[in-house]
Amino acid sequence: MESWAGLDLPPLSKSFEIPDLKLFDTASQTIKPLAKKNDYKIYVCGITPYDATHLGHAATYLTFDLINRYLRLSGATVNFVQNITDIDDPLLERAERDGTNWQDLARSQINLFRGDMVNLHVIPPDHYIGVVEAMALIIESIEALVATGNTYMVESDLYFEVHSDSKFGSRSHLNQDEMLEIFSQRGGDPKRAGKRNPLDALLWRGERPGEPSWQSPFGAGRPGWHIECSAIALTYLSRKSADGESENESIDIQGGGSDLVFPHHEMSASQCALITKKEFASHYVHAGMIGLNGEKMSKSLGNLVFVSTLINQGVEPAAIRWALFSSHFTKDRMWNQELLDDSIDWINRLRTALSRVDVAPTTPAITGIIRELSENLNTAAALHLIKEWIEQSENGEPSGLESRGEAGEFSRALDTILGIAL
Ligand code: ZN
Repeated sequence: MESWAGLDLPPLSKSFEIPDLKLFDTASQTIKPLAKKNDYKIYVCGITPYDATHLGHAATYLTFDLINRYLRLSGATVNFVQNITDIDDPLLERAERDGTNWQDLARSQINLFRGDMVNLHVIPPDHYIGVVEAMALIIESIEALVATGNTYMVESDLYFEVHSDSKFGSRSHLNQDEMLEIFSQRGGDPKRAGKRNPLDALLWRGERPGEPSWQSPFGAGRPGWHIECSAIALTYLSRKSADGESENESIDIQGGGSDLVFPHHEMSASQCALITKKEFASHYVHAGMIGLNGEKMSKSLGNLVFVSTLINQGVEPAAIRWALFSSHFTKDRMWNQELLDDSIDWINRLRTALSRVDVAPTTPAITGIIRELSENLNTAAALHLIKEWIEQSENGEPSGLESRGEAGEFSRALDTILGIAL
């Protein structure tokens, strides 16, 4: 699938020290450093293209964009893979409801998503892979799982025995009742008669009348959600990596919104672990949810705020970034007009400060921003440093030629490190 236009990240003229990046890992429930490497492998779950791109999506993709930027700034190569779930129940349901073709709906929403990512200055994935175009390799991965002996049929549907992975549950830390409840809320079928265990994951759904289907060794049908990401990640990251086989984990980061921790990421990771006989990811990284005015933001409540709506209202992408960076990525956060207005105000003050002849020292501010980001992406602290710099520049302090900063350097640093391009 075509990605979106690449970005030129302006190089920094001074060489700044780049500390190892520490990130909160859901599986170990600790903040731990990414091992120092020359190349990193990151897989981030993409959208189901039927309601792109709301602020929850934006918060997630901006989080992984920051990680991508940070690792590239350190001099490493990043292989960043993202999927698009362009065949799925919600997509078919929405197309049916709207009386439209599911492929047309997907195409239009993917185009909208690409445009939003360009507007938000998100670095495009190195591989942007749709499920439909990946059907052959998904079938190949299902065959690899079948070969492990941990799958079974229920009528025309093929299931994976999740407990065949001895570490099943170790990434999401839920008890059995919580798993069952969340599984049924997020597309699972714990009550399906004939399943060996209620939590077993659907690998292949046999053809249903009126639904699109593909031929496979398991009959005509379409894949389950979790195996799609397992297959795309293993194909585009670990299997084709020269050094992949020697590592303890297949990839460095599996990422997405916190609503994907269970069942999606747990089950994807279990399937990968069975296929490769090693842990899927070194870090499981999850971004919190975005609410609106004190309420959950959701399709069912009809209160989604879309990136394209804000941009069409004339809101600068930098202000959207600023607002979403103002609190920590792992937290569930609220969006409201006050936050947006405040962010717009700071972006305007930043632009004015950058245009001054004399500005406050920039090297310590840039060093500080890098250090705060290295500590589990402490964006709020990084913004605080920028605010201090703005205030100092506005107040003309400190005075004296030797203490002057370089506005151009600061502007390039904000662009490269935080994606705040003015
Ligand atoms: Zn996924």
